[in-house]
Amino acid sequence: MHDPESPCTSTHCVHAGARPDAARPGVVPALELSTTYVLDDAAYALVRAGRGGDARIYARYGNPTIEALEARLAALEGAAAARVFASGMAALHGLLGAACAEGGAGHVVAARTIYGGTRDFLTSVWPAMGGRATFVDVEDAAALEAALADDARALLCESIANPTLEVADLPALAARCRAHGALLLVDATFATPALQRPLAHGADAVMHSASKYLGGHSDLLGGVVAGPAPLLARVDLWRRRTGGVLDPQVAHLLDRGLKTLALRMRAHCDGALRFAEALRAHPRVAHVRHPLLGAHAERARRLLHAGGGMVLLEVDGDEDAALRVLGALELALPAASLGGVETLVCTPATTSHAGLTTDARAALGIAPGAIRVSVGIEEPDDLVADFRRALDRA
Ligand SMILES: *Cc1c(COP(=O)(O)O)cnc(C)c1O
Repeated sequence: MHDPESPCTSTHCVHAGARPDAARPGVVPALELSTTYVLDDAAYALVRAGRGGDARIYARYGNPTIEALEARLAALEGAAAARVFASGMAALHGLLGAACAEGGAGHVVAARTIYGGTRDFLTSVWPAMGGRATFVDVEDAAALEAALADDARALLCESIANPTLEVADLPALAARCRAHGALLLVDATFATPALQRPLAHGADAVMHSASKYLGGHSDLLGGVVAGPAPLLARVDLWRRRTGGVLDPQVAHLLDRGLKTLALRMRAHCDGALRFAEALRAHPRVAHVRHPLLGAHAERARRLLHAGGGMVLLEVDGDEDAALRVLGALELALPAASLGGVETLVCTPATTSHAGLTTDARAALGIAPGAIRVSVGIEEPDDLVADFRRALDRA
């Protein structure tokens, strides 16, 4: 029905997953809140046969609302299976635990431009689990090669990096990983399956913070892991054991948000490109980063259906100058997080990358005056006017 290389469309977003049937005729999947189920002979027989996991017993193992959402997400990613977690960080924990911790946590290579929380996890929790992590510039072939050759179990990267918006060359990275017997794990939070399906480009598994575009309304926390069935069976077991499953009420809300994912992404992407092009010309803006405007534009056009909803503005001046611009905005809201219908702005220096020194941020390509803009679905002209006014005033 659908070319796996193509991103998911609104038709998929609305119809993917389970269809209503005689047993469940509701157009919308039912919200089931029961944590436990009356056991019958069939359930006892499954438990006795050591297959308790196949019986309806307890909601930490899954429930119909969660499973309907997982079926939709797996279909959107073109994956055999998906599992949902209480947050993106819980999904990361589940993915790395399942993929890289068999017989003890191993060596994980991560792109050096990666979400601050992921870096924190890899430098605190992962070593506490017995693992180690190395951060590399994935564009530096020699450094990547050396890191992967060092008994790496996986390479973890973001399809569009936070906040520098570099586009990962997934087919090339997948080839390097295969040569070393390492898995390619992709955090696709910024791109979403509406722009790219990483599994079709050689990734072994994909994860998301569903708190961002997948939910899309800044009103839920969630995470997703999607990929092939054998790996997802281990993810499922990890989730049962560690308990980071998504709550059914939130699962229901996320399932609702997913139906407009492709529609929202179109508005985010159109708005972000118009915004980036308009603000590039402003005298107070030193530099604008957007996947379709920078050094990776050709790669972005080849691998992504559109440029995404994120823009990094670099205003002249320091962190305080950037904060003054934020303070002068009337429409866009100064807040961390991203991917909601409202435009959110933050400075990486005071939020996602606050833990680093100015020099360390500069090494990652984050200028002192950097402002990360998660472009919402407002009229692009209104947003451009808001920023022009703020830049002129601040
Ligand atoms: C927000 C985010 C996460 C963490 O997700 P939570 O839902 O906040 O736990 C991971 N990766 C990226 C790229 C993110 O933006």
